[in-house]
Amino acid sequence: METDLRKNPGLLKLDLYCKGAHIDDSLQVTDEGGRPILRTRAGLGSGLEAILPDNLWTNIPVTERFVRHSPYVVRRRDNGEIWIDQGDEPICRITLAPRPTWYDRKTSTGKPMPQVGTLQGTYLGVYPSKVCEYWTEDSPSNCKFCSVGLNLGSDDAEEKRVQEVLEVVAAARDESDITYIDFNTGHYAGETYLDILEPYIKAVKKATGCLIGVQTPPHSDLSRYDRLKEIGVNRVSFCFELFHPEHFEKVCPGKAEKYGLERYLQAVEYNARLGRAGKLDFDPWVSNGEIIAGLEPPEWSIKAIDWITSVGAIPTVCVFRPLKGTDYEHVPPPKLEEMLPVFARQYEACMEQGLPIAVAPNVNVSLVMLPWESRWLVPRSVRRRFALKEAKMAAMRKIFAHRFYATLRRHDAERRAAAAS
Ligand code: SF4
Repeated sequence: METDLRKNPGLLKLDLYCKGAHIDDSLQVTDEGGRPILRTRAGLGSGLEAILPDNLWTNIPVTERFVRHSPYVVRRRDNGEIWIDQGDEPICRITLAPRPTWYDRKTSTGKPMPQVGTLQGTYLGVYPSKVCEYWTEDSPSNCKFCSVGLNLGSDDAEEKRVQEVLEVVAAARDESDITYIDFNTGHYAGETYLDILEPYIKAVKKATGCLIGVQTPPHSDLSRYDRLKEIGVNRVSFCFELFHPEHFEKVCPGKAEKYGLERYLQAVEYNARLGRAGKLDFDPWVSNGEIIAGLEPPEWSIKAIDWITSVGAIPTVCVFRPLKGTDYEHVPPPKLEEMLPVFARQYEACMEQGLPIAVAPNVNVSLVMLPWESRWLVPRSVRRRFALKEAKMAAMRKIFAHRFYATLRRHDAERRAAAAS
């Protein structure tokens, strides 16, 4: 693996998750056209949205306490360029993720658009319903790393109607060229989360043809996922976070009590099978198992990755970030050396199983290292081993993008015609 940070943006992306960066006084993020630093990130993180070399989108921790010890500084040079330096040594020039024009607008109901949906990398994240009920119980059982319940009334509007979401999606499609929308909910008593999301999904799919993802707790009726597939969902994601049962119970007490780890794993596996069941088509379906690395020993994160990929699902791996105000605000973030084998395994395991990573067009994710990006973290010999598979994947990406963009353009034209009439 290339260890020079100036030549390895993947390594830099990972190290920035672990250490964060200072923003120098020379840089006024919003004056430079960057995105405001919002706390709302599905409870995972907040930070500076930026693009590293090789088009690696990232979200750099800048407000958390651990950043004080970071050697990285983001500076604006006199010529207007923005650089990450390590102390005084220049590492690389970066670009700020552009602030969407629609962030300054309101929906027809008067709600600021970023309170309905926000860009995370290049996709739109929507959290359409009330806050996760683990936060509102008499004795809260929220996940210890989560900040969702802290966001209320600040960065995120509490309830979003279908029409409001449609307006924001249309703006993000027209002005930010989004291709993917991710709907996220927390836990609601009575397993109502899929009932709540379905009207949004149907309306957004019909209006845009975009790829759609859903992240909720695992529903006990697994046939509900067949239905989600029928109405146009392309990705389901289940965040079980920790793979060791005791770690899971300790960090996610609400999830452990109401669902249990086994139910998360069953949902990941069922949906991976569902993806293999149908014929190959251009409305894909993938199952994701999502974990947080840095809250249990790396070997358990690796076990989780191996299990997820063994059932045909794709691992989404977040780096633990001790967000301000959360129960784990004082827990130190993981060290780069601990994270490297985890993310190297993420790439390797996906390639070994021939999973379709990096096929969706223009889906750049700032909050996690994508499996495809983790290829920067393996030795050259490993990349050579998968060269043929990578070439096959690149060909799939091209074919899929061609068909997918034609569908998007058709929907765009119909939507604009309907709006004009
Ligand atoms: S389930 Fe856990 S991580 Fe998700 S919103 Fe609720 S408390 Fe936060």
